Amino acid sequence: MKVEDVICPFCGCLCDDLVVEVEGERVIGVENGCTLAQEKFMGDHRLGHPIRRTGKEWTPVSYDEAIETAARVLLEADRPLLYGWSGTQGEAQSVGVHLAELLGAVIDNTSTVCHGPSIMAIQEVGHPGCTLGQVKNRADLLIYWGCNPIDAHPRHMSRYTTYADGFFLKDAFRDRKVIVVDIRETESSNIADEFIRIDPGGDYEVLSALRAIVRGKGALVPASVSGVSREQLFRVADLCKAARFGAIFFGLGLTMSPGKQKNIRNAIELTEELNRHTKFTISPMRGHWNVYGSNEVFTWISGYPYAVDFARGIAFYNPGETTAVDILKRGECDACLVVASDPGAHFPRDCCAHLASIPTIQIDPHVNATTHLSHLQIPVAVTGIDAEGTAYRMDGVPIRTRSLFPSRYPTDTEILERIYAIVAREKGP
Ligand code: SF4
Repeated sequence: MKVEDVICPFCGCLCDDLVVEVEGERVIGVENGCTLAQEKFMGDHRLGHPIRRTGKEWTPVSYDEAIETAARVLLEADRPLLYGWSGTQGEAQSVGVHLAELLGAVIDNTSTVCHGPSIMAIQEVGHPGCTLGQVKNRADLLIYWGCNPIDAHPRHMSRYTTYADGFFLKDAFRDRKVIVVDIRETESSNIADEFIRIDPGGDYEVLSALRAIVRGKGALVPASVSGVSREQLFRVADLCKAARFGAIFFGLGLTMSPGKQKNIRNAIELTEELNRHTKFTISPMRGHWNVYGSNEVFTWISGYPYAVDFARGIAFYNPGETTAVDILKRGECDACLVVASDPGAHFPRDCCAHLASIPTIQIDPHVNATTHLSHLQIPVAVTGIDAEGTAYRMDGVPIRTRSLFPSRYPTDTEILERIYAIVAREKGP
C-alpha cells in the first residue's frame, strides 16, 4: 500500500510530500525523501521490549514492570532531571512538563546544546522571522551562516530556497543568489554565489563590520575582518541591500561558537539594519524534527522554553544554571529520565559519566549511545511512522504527523501518562 503526503519526522524541515510504501508492519519504500528520511523510515533497528540492566547483564522486563520502576526511581529522587523531548510528539512533551512540575524536577530539551542561545537572543531583541513559504515564494537572496543544509537538512534548498520555484519570482533558480558563511568549505559553500570564509570564532566581528557598512559607517571597517577582506564585506553588504527579499538561516556554527547568544543578537540586529533598506528575515535551522515543538510546549505550560526548574514549586529558568549539561556537570541530579534524544552521543564526557552513575531511564525506540549509560530502556512507537502526533516545523508551523500502520508499541505519551498516574497517586492531591 502506498501512502501519499507523508510527513518526514527527521529534521526540522518536516517535509510533507513523501510517498511511503507499507507492507504489514514495515516500510518497504520511500519516494521524495532524502537519504536521512530513507534511513528513518526503512531503518530496522528497533528495540523489541523493555530491558533492565543488572550489573553488566541486560534482561527483558514487561511494560508494567518498567513503568512501575521508572515511576519509583523518579519518586525516590531528590533532584530528578527529565531531558530530551525533541524527537517526540507535542502530546508527550506536554505530559513531560506536567510530570516535572509534579515531581519538582528540572526539565530540559535539546535546545540546551543547539539553539538555546538563539532563543536567549530572541528574548532580548525579538525575532524578525517568517514562514518557509514566504521564503520560498519571495526570497531572492539567501544567506546560510554557520550551517550546511546540503548535509544536515538535505531538502531545505530544493523545497524552500535555492532550487524551489517562487510565486513572486519570474525565474527563481536564476534570480536567487546564495551566500554561505562558514569557517570551512562545505557541500553548501560549493554551490554558493559568494562564499565568505571566516576565521573560527570571527562571526561577531564580521556581523559587526557588515552592520557598520549597512549603516553607512564603512570607513571604520579595516582592510580585513576575521579573515574576510573589506572588499568582500562591501560586496556582500551591497548584495543584501539590492535584494528585494533576503533571508538569513543560521546554524550551530553561529550558536555554539564563541559569542553564542551575542552572535545571534548581532545577526538579528544586522537583519533589522537591513530592513531599513529592503525586506530581510532571519531564522534558525532547527535540527531535531520537533525541537521547535519542545520550546513551544514548554513555554505554553511553564512560561519558559527550556531548562525549567520546578524545585521551588514554581517554574524557574536560568540557562547556565538550570540547563541539563550544567546540572550533570555539577553532579547535582540523582536520577534522570531521557526521552527521545541521545545525550550519550552529544554531552561532555563528565556529564555522561554522571548519567552512568545514577539511575538513568531512557524512553526511546532504538538502542543508542545513551542505552549504554542507562539502567532501564522502554521502547515506544515512532511518531510519524507507527504513531501520530503534533510537531512544529523549524518556522513554527504546527503539522500533524501520521501513523502509517498499527503499532505493537505504546506511544511515548501513553508511557508518560502511566508514569504520571503512579506519581500523582503517590504524591496525593
Ligand atoms: S530534509 Fe529533513 S524532513 Fe525533509 S526528507 Fe530529509 S530528513 Fe526528512
